[in-house]
Amino acid sequence: APAPRPLLSLSDVSVTFGGVKALKGVSFEVMPGEVHCLAGENGSGKSTLIKVITGVYRPDGEARISFDGEVYDHMTPVAAQAAGIRVIWQDLALFPEMSVAENIAFQEVVGGRPRRVDHGAMRETARKVLARLGTSLDLDLPLRDYSIARRQIVAIARALVGEAKIIFMDEPTASLTQAETNHLLDIVRTLSREGIAVVFVSHRLAEVIEISDRMTVLRDGRLVGVYPAKEMTPSRITELMTGR
Ligand code: ADP
Ligand code: MG
Repeated sequence: APAPRPLLSLSDVSVTFGGVKALKGVSFEVMPGEVHCLAGENGSGKSTLIKVITGVYRPDGEARISFDGEVYDHMTPVAAQAAGIRVIWQDLALFPEMSVAENIAFQEVVGGRPRRVDHGAMRETARKVLARLGTSLDLDLPLRDYSIARRQIVAIARALVGEAKIIFMDEPTASLTQAETNHLLDIVRTLSREGIAVVFVSHRLAEVIEISDRMTVLRDGRLVGVYPAKEMTPSRITELMTGR
């Protein structure tokens, strides 16, 4: 059988901020439908790598990104959006005064105005996608009435409506309770089963091992290695992250 082709592939990515080298020749690959953990201590370059992939930062030199069969000299936010790359940022980028249904059905058009769909269709879209995620919320309540955990689910639902192929989650469980974390992990499994790749950053090492297929470890802007998660233990991950 032919080797499966990566969904996302970056090679030799370096990023410099003033005098600081945030990434030094990092390569990174994600397979379709894979759950992939990006691990590293604070300041190791995880968020910077996500921002290169989503077109927020342009890498130095000759780095190339390939995604879903297309090769990019560098990614732009518009190209990333169009290609099906989505990020659930910690600050979520949702509309707290708008309803759950509006938040899910509104697709951001980078550099343009959000597009509105008709009201009945919008609610039906929102209800269906939340059901796929094993969640039901009052579609008419403003988002501000919901917890961070529920808002994250709304952000994931919105990514699904936008036909995401890969979803990045940068420390999604940092402020969640254990029950909320478990629900989010179930949602990650559902996404993966539907063929959507999930790349997430988390410092909860037991949950990382449980949920991930593979993990990429960064230390001080450099790639340490890529490992099958099931072969890892929390203490081994800590050794790889710290070099001690
Ligand atoms: P992580 O997400 O792993 O904690 P980051 O990618 O946020 O790490 O940061 C990697 C390094 O790059 C750190 O030294 C950080 O201070 C630096 N850095 C990140 N973003 C910027 C920026 N916009 N300007 C200057 N330095 C930055
Ligand atoms: Mg970060």
